[in-house]
Amino acid sequence: VSERKTSYLRSVLDSVPPYRPGRKVVGPDGRSAKLSSNESPFGPLPSVRRAVADAAADLNRYPDPAAAALTAALARRFEVPAEHVALGAGSVGLLQQLLEAVAEPGAEVVYAWRSFEAYPLLVGLSGAASVQVPLRAESHDLDALAAAVTDRTRMLFVCNPNNPTGTAVREAELAAFLDAVPDHVLVVLDEAYREYVRAPQVPDGMRLYRDRPNVAVLRTFSKAYGLAALRVGFLVAHPHVAEAVRKTMVPFAVNHLAQAAAVASLDAEQELLERVDATVKERERVRDALLADGWTVPETEANFVWLRLGEDTLDFAAACERAGVTVRPFAGEGARVSIGLPEDNDAFLAVARAHPRRH
Ligand code: PMP
Repeated sequence: VSERKTSYLRSVLDSVPPYRPGRKVVGPDGRSAKLSSNESPFGPLPSVRRAVADAAADLNRYPDPAAAALTAALARRFEVPAEHVALGAGSVGLLQQLLEAVAEPGAEVVYAWRSFEAYPLLVGLSGAASVQVPLRAESHDLDALAAAVTDRTRMLFVCNPNNPTGTAVREAELAAFLDAVPDHVLVVLDEAYREYVRAPQVPDGMRLYRDRPNVAVLRTFSKAYGLAALRVGFLVAHPHVAEAVRKTMVPFAVNHLAQAAAVASLDAEQELLERVDATVKERERVRDALLADGWTVPETEANFVWLRLGEDTLDFAAACERAGVTVRPFAGEGARVSIGLPEDNDAFLAVARAHPRRH
């Protein structure tokens, strides 16, 4: 096969970073703790499995393209009109739909960095330009984000809590920021980890978007609801945004099994939120143990912790792998470690304790 670049491929592909999901590794004792993708460590509830199995009877039919039952269930759950709700194949699917709807050539998309890895990837693919604003003390620097907005800015992402640092911006600051952002910018509040938030000062985007037509809220069934494999996320925004996002969805992107599982998960929400409570408890235990051992760990409102390891990052990740623990390293910066079941977290804590250096 010729190495020569084919002229029909867009040159933007050369500069798009690959998405590298964490892989599973097995430790010497056969144990495996996958703490690299911020997944729920809990398998599906029996009622959700049943809903998926029942839905499988209709695999020969296309799914409901409007996902009417799920849309209605979400509207009820969040007390919003159904026309404010749009669905996508995970919240990454919705991010791509949003970019498709908003990002013309020459458009700029502003977001904090480091943040969710899919942002540069999807913005790059859309042909828009990423404007990355450094975090300050591991948190969003809202003043610097506001200052980065230009006439060409069309979208601005606020990941709250932020992946990978776990930090969250507060209501007063965020509300003032949203009021200052000009109308030609759509602000996307990415709340993939919202259910894990416990600090009362951290705002609920569902409240913030109501008086603000240029604010959209992104949520997912992948984390707290435990449906990462099924790929279903939702957006809540004013009807003009929701409608645009419905138009840019690949037809039938949210399949029938995913719709059924999501409806069943909303029906079983209390049980799922108890699992979230258990994860939050573990999060506090893990962070307290790290702090007691001399590590510096930012306060986290998500289902992961962030270790700023700097140049030590890859050595630390390799030590984790040798023990059967996968974390998500960002070379030269740090490692994000998801909160798993207690025994997984203990395996990680043992590696951290044995590590020769504290950061
Ligand atoms: N937003 C953030 C901040 C995330 O961390 C993730 C998942 N890692 C997503 C969105 C995407 O989740 P999904 O596509 O599974 O809904």
